[in-house]
Amino acid sequence: MKIAVLGSTGSIGLQTLDVCRRLKPRPDVVLLSANRNADLLMEQAREFGVRRVALHDRNAWQDFRKSAAGVDVLPGVPGIEEVLEETSPDVTVNGIWGAAGLQASLSAIRHSRRLALANKESLVCAGQLVMGEAHERGCEIVPIDSEQSAIFQALQGGKQSEVRRVILTASGGPFLDWTPEQVAQATPEDALKHPTWEMGAGISIDSATLVNKAFEVIEARWLFDLESSQIEVVIHPESIVHSIVEFVDGSCIAQLSVTDMRIPIQYALTYPDRAGLALEALDVGKLGGLTFRKPDRKRSRSLMLAWKVLELGGTAGAAFVGSNERATGAFLEGKISFNSIYDTSARVLQTLSVKNNPTLDDILAAHEWAKAEADRWISQES
Ligand code: MG
Repeated sequence: MKIAVLGSTGSIGLQTLDVCRRLKPRPDVVLLSANRNADLLMEQAREFGVRRVALHDRNAWQDFRKSAAGVDVLPGVPGIEEVLEETSPDVTVNGIWGAAGLQASLSAIRHSRRLALANKESLVCAGQLVMGEAHERGCEIVPIDSEQSAIFQALQGGKQSEVRRVILTASGGPFLDWTPEQVAQATPEDALKHPTWEMGAGISIDSATLVNKAFEVIEARWLFDLESSQIEVVIHPESIVHSIVEFVDGSCIAQLSVTDMRIPIQYALTYPDRAGLALEALDVGKLGGLTFRKPDRKRSRSLMLAWKVLELGGTAGAAFVGSNERATGAFLEGKISFNSIYDTSARVLQTLSVKNNPTLDDILAAHEWAKAEADRWISQES
């Protein structure tokens, strides 16, 4: 199996390489990419015998490209396009964080047989475009995100036309049992404590605001061709049931496992087969109880923005991603309160003039516009 790993120094990338170490036969890694962690990238290139790598950060690329003996260091987006075109991997894993992952997804779709997708922003910003391109080019998209992987796996138990709805599970984030008054006072440190999954700073805030779950609702709409009314979210603090598909006969099929991203990552590589994976097993008898509850609407306003974004359509997803990026950053810098993260995105979506059937340029423009518009609201706030 020929494989490209984009975002290889991030959490998904590291775990993908760990899956590669364990898989037999070991996949042939043809490309690695990182934002700016050149030292780790080179260490990975040596271990996996990769001759070409890409660095997204322009300064890191300038600094590093001449000093790397025996390895070609290429600039981010064009470098990825070039290597994928030349090598046509069986699978391209996109573990890039943030909106920077969109162009990488489109390159992967053009040149690989399968896109193993962890980058949420690709579908949130450009669901229609990405799915349209994938369909046209005959590239299959297999999700890596634990919830989308669970739905993808459960869908093996029936036909698309037999789906009544999908139920995405959410851990509820670190403020699940806080009062609204406590949440209003929440600090970045509070939000960075995530109960079950280990993740980076941006995504931890997205988990606390439930924006992460809002993104997953939008992704699910595109990945599985659903109506927005067919998607529900339930709070499930134990994070054992990763999502559920309800079929028209009332049967609900769920996927359960320990919380370890290597399971969905490996499945995205080996699908439709499964391979052994030596992890601690899920001891069902010791679980005691699994709990589920409906999200409290008042406390999950950011989650509800998902349906607003789907209703607006077109460039609304890109605007949501842009405004959330800036608002999350401003919160981490102590400029705005936790609740203002929601307010910023809600205002930006209110002022957006939506463009339907957007091109890549329209999407990138809406993303930039939303960041500037969010900055305007944030400067009035602080
Ligand atoms: Mg998830």
